[in-house]
Amino acid sequence: IKIKITNIDIPVAFASAFEGEIVRKKQMQVEFDGSRVDCFELVQTKEASEIEDHKIELIGPDFDSFEKGSKQSIAYIVEVAGKGMQSDFESVFERKFHSYLNCIEGVMHTGQRDMIRVRISDAAYDAGFRAKHIGEVLYAKIKNDFDAVVDKCQVKVITDPELVTKLRHELAIPAFDKRDDRLKSLTDESVDVYYSCIMCQAFSPSHVCVVTPERLGLCGAVSWLDAKATNELEPTGPCQVITKERPIDERIGEYEDVNEAVKKFSNGALEDVSLYSIMEKPMTSCGCFECICGIEPFSNGVIIANREYAGMTPLGMTFADLASMTGGGVQTPGFMGHGKHFIASKKFMKAEGGIERIVWMPKDLKESVAERLNATAKELYGIDNFTDMIGDETIAEDPETLLEFLTEKGHPALGMEPMM
Ligand code: SF4
Ligand code: ZN
Repeated sequence: IKIKITNIDIPVAFASAFEGEIVRKKQMQVEFDGSRVDCFELVQTKEASEIEDHKIELIGPDFDSFEKGSKQSIAYIVEVAGKGMQSDFESVFERKFHSYLNCIEGVMHTGQRDMIRVRISDAAYDAGFRAKHIGEVLYAKIKNDFDAVVDKCQVKVITDPELVTKLRHELAIPAFDKRDDRLKSLTDESVDVYYSCIMCQAFSPSHVCVVTPERLGLCGAVSWLDAKATNELEPTGPCQVITKERPIDERIGEYEDVNEAVKKFSNGALEDVSLYSIMEKPMTSCGCFECICGIEPFSNGVIIANREYAGMTPLGMTFADLASMTGGGVQTPGFMGHGKHFIASKKFMKAEGGIERIVWMPKDLKESVAERLNATAKELYGIDNFTDMIGDETIAEDPETLLEFLTEKGHPALGMEPMM
């Protein structure tokens, strides 16, 4: 017999009404910020014998030990067991954490995987909200929403920074890499359907992601496999099947079926989107993109900035400036939010010439995508070590210096047609 949990044992309210609530710097007791210190969230499938149902364990200091307003490390690992459980469901549960934690009064969550940010307000802290309550919420919601496949669940909340760092490298990153590898063999052409995702409509009411094997959701957390699993778990849920039987324009990746779906799921706000163009009918962005790509007119190229990058880009804008003009579920030709993984995709801005247009990226981002990006550049254009031609903040933060560098390197974008 399965019992639905209706009451979550926490000292603050829990309701979808709090989902869009923002915890500002001034009101925050503590912040867990994966862009500055090690953090992650992870679901792992275990044997039933390995799990004590409803065990919530805190490993490390509680919120009382943290200086008000400080940035700390956190990891929460949700371990589940069940007869119908599949490892493909793990990332789907994980993506739900965003919504679960945001439903807590005084708690704000953004990001996913090892790039999360969680803020706890001073009001929630004063009401008695502590680390184990994160575990209580995750336990209750996972048991409730996924009772069809989860029989037992336990949660570890880890705030010991050394242990978080160790587990991030030994447990979390290998798990994320393994999932990414599963996708590698799939292409947009090799599948019969794509999926919509509207999980972000709580924040961006008209936003719809169209998720394909070669273009994951812009949050970086919803791959085509994840969307497929979500659809299997919740047939009437946020991810719906989109057929791709009626192409309109293969160059930009536009389909009649996709347009119909986007129109329906955006409640009429969006008429048409392309899958492969940043200039023509680009996909919309909500607010949780891992990266933003924007055109750099002097070089005929594009720059990419990632959320963790706090510095200046050659467009004279920071990530935050770019985000403020790209988000909100509207189409902004020339700018596009996207997942990190998309950068090395053969479908990245395919309509405008593809990854050859990339002229600048923050150094850390460039290093993290280099292996895959270089492999794609070699395959598509026969270029060796393409990332050596791409500028970064140590090379240029203004368009003139960047152009000099690109000219010296013979960057291919300089010889391409103007984008506008
Ligand atoms: Fe879904 Fe897109 Fe939001 Fe990711 S960004 S959760 S894919 S709607
Ligand atoms: Zn979003």
